[in-house]
Amino acid sequence: MSQLADYLETIQPELINTARLFGYAERDFQDPPLFRFTAEETAGMYRITFTDGERRVSGETEIPAEADPRVETLHRKRAARRLCKQTLYRLCRERTGIHPPWGSLTGVRPTHLMLEALGEGLSGEEAVERLVRRFDVTEEKARLLARIAAVQSGMPAPGDGWMDVYIGIPFCTTRCAYCSFSSGEIGKGKLVGPYMEALGREMRAGAAILRESGKKLRALYVGGGTPTALPEAAFWRLLEDMLSAFPGAMEMTVEAGRPDTITREKLRAIREAGVKRISINPQTMNDETLRRIGRAHTAEDVRRAYAMAREEEIPHINMDVITGLPGENAADFAHTMEEAEKLRPESLTVHTLAIKRSSYWTGQAELLPPGEVAAEMVRMGAETAGKLGMRPYYLYRQKYMAGNQENTGYALPGHECVYNVDIMEENSHILAFGAGGISKRIYPEEGHIGRAPNLSNIEMYIERVEEMVRRKRELFLTDGS
Ligand code: SF4
Repeated sequence: MSQLADYLETIQPELINTARLFGYAERDFQDPPLFRFTAEETAGMYRITFTDGERRVSGETEIPAEADPRVETLHRKRAARRLCKQTLYRLCRERTGIHPPWGSLTGVRPTHLMLEALGEGLSGEEAVERLVRRFDVTEEKARLLARIAAVQSGMPAPGDGWMDVYIGIPFCTTRCAYCSFSSGEIGKGKLVGPYMEALGREMRAGAAILRESGKKLRALYVGGGTPTALPEAAFWRLLEDMLSAFPGAMEMTVEAGRPDTITREKLRAIREAGVKRISINPQTMNDETLRRIGRAHTAEDVRRAYAMAREEEIPHINMDVITGLPGENAADFAHTMEEAEKLRPESLTVHTLAIKRSSYWTGQAELLPPGEVAAEMVRMGAETAGKLGMRPYYLYRQKYMAGNQENTGYALPGHECVYNVDIMEENSHILAFGAGGISKRIYPEEGHIGRAPNLSNIEMYIERVEEMVRRKRELFLTDGS
C-alpha cells in the first residue's frame, strides 16, 4: 500500500461527516457508494479527485517536508486527510448549491482556529479572511469567532498552575427527550444517600490530590443532571462537602436547570455558600413544547423561579434555550426570546438542537427544522443577547445539529463564566467528581490531553469510588505524559 493510501485508509467516518453537512448520510457511502475518489502523488504534490459519476472535482496540496520523520508523517497524514475532505466538500457544494454556515469544518473547535490565527500574529480582519478562504466559513460566523476571541482575551488566563473542579449530580426529575447524558431519574431517591456518601469520600480524596499537585483552584462547577433535584438536606450537604474540600475558588456555579426543583431553602443554601452563578433553564417558554420534550415544568414555573432567585439576591442567573425544538417555528422561538428579555438573565446560552446518540430521538433527523429556520432562530438568539447588552464569549459545535449551526454563550461584560471557556477550549486541568465526570490533564507542550473518566453508571460508581480516586491520583500525581 502506498503511503498516501495508508494515510487515507480510515478516512470514511470523516468523509461521512463532511457529506452530512449537505444532508447526505452513511448509506451514501455504502455499496454502491455515491462518491468515489482516487489519490495520487506527483511532483511533490498530493492530488485527490472525487466523482459522483457525473461531476469530477480535483484538489492538490504540497507534500509537507520536515526534518523530524515522526513530525513529517504526522503533517503528511494531516495534509492528505484535509485535502480529501475538502475535495469531497467542494463536490458536494457543487452538487447541492448549499453553503454550510461553518464551511468545511467538522470535528474541530472553530474558536481554536481563530485563536491559532491570532496567535500567529494575524489581525482580527486577517484571521476572519483566512477562515473564510481556507474553510469556506461564512463571514457572519467568522466574525462571531473574532468577537468571541476578543472577549476571551480579557478573561483570566488559564495556565499549568491552575485546576478547575467539576462535581456531577446525575439525577433529574424526568428525562428530557433530547438528553444524551447518563443522568437517571431521581424517582424515590433511593440512591441519593449512598451517592452523596461516595461523592463526599471522592471529594475529600480529591482535595488531597489538588494539594499534592501544587496547583491552585480556579473555577468550581456543579453540574449534572440537575443538582437542585436533590432533596434539601442532601443539597445542603453537597454544598458543605464541596466548600470544605475546595474553598477559595475564583468562580462558583451551581446548575439549577429545572425550575420546578428550585426552592427558597436551596437558593439560601446557594447564597450562603457564596455561589454567585446559577443556571435556570427554560429551553423554551412554550408550554406545549415543554410537554413534548418531557420537561415536567411550565413557563410559569420558570418565571416563578427567576423571581424567587432575584428575591434571594443571586447575582448571576444564566439561561439556556434551545433553537430548533420539534414543532416550533420562528414565531415560537421569538416568543421565548421576548420572555427572556423580560426575565433579564445575566447570561444567555443559545443552543441548537442536536439529535445525539443515546437520546430518545436518536436516528430521527426528520425532527430537525430546515436549515434556514434554524439559522433564523440562531440569529434571533444573538439579537436578543445584543439587546440585553451581552457579548458572545464561547462557542462549540456538535454533530447532528439543526442547520449545522452552533451553541453560543453570551454574557454581560464581566459575567463570562471561566469554567465554560476552559471546558470548551480544553486549556485547563479539570478534576472531576461524581458519576460520569471526566478528569483531564493538559500537556500543552505535547498538545496532548490525559483523561481519567469516572464510571457513568450510578450504582457502579458508588461501588467503585476508590478506583475513581486512584485513576485521578495516577493522572495528576504521576508523570504520565
Ligand atoms: S435536565 Fe439536562 S441532564 Fe436532566 S434530563 Fe434534561 S437534558 Fe438531561
